[in-house]
Amino acid sequence: MKIRTGFGYDVHRLEDGVDFWLGGIKMDYHKGAVGHSDADVLIHAICDALLGAANLRDIGYHFSDNDPALKGIDSKILLKNVVEKLHDKGYTISNIDSTVALEAPKVNPRIDEMKQVLASTMKIDIDDISIKATTSEKMGFVGAGEGIAAYANVLISKT
Ligand SMILES: [Zn+2]
Repeated sequence: MKIRTGFGYDVHRLEDGVDFWLGGIKMDYHKGAVGHSDADVLIHAICDALLGAANLRDIGYHFSDNDPALKGIDSKILLKNVVEKLHDKGYTISNIDSTVALEAPKVNPRIDEMKQVLASTMKIDIDDISIKATTSEKMGFVGAGEGIAAYANVLISKT
């Protein structure tokens, strides 16, 4: 059995009056993350971790910021595509652990919902995806509410 680990990191700016997509669901907040896609920072970190584990470059390599077809795209579509790339290489996802860093709004009440949505998008067991949330103790761009960051670790395997 071949077992590989991968790590992903992503960051997006937060702006007023923008839809806030996080972990595949829409957060209720006056600010939202901005980017070429729906700017779902958690999904992007998970995509990068999965791609890294399979040595398939990174999310920007496969889905260009300049591609008009990807403007505003639901990141769950990108995640589904990444999981297909892994399956094409013979890998399955063993587990995912992730952390979202943002000052507000509170993420914890929505984590179960995010886990459900992401597990079903990737067709994995809900017990195989962990999502944690932290603040930045008011320090730096996360602490100032200017942006949001996410980190993900994954384990993939093939027999
Ligand atoms: Zn991103």
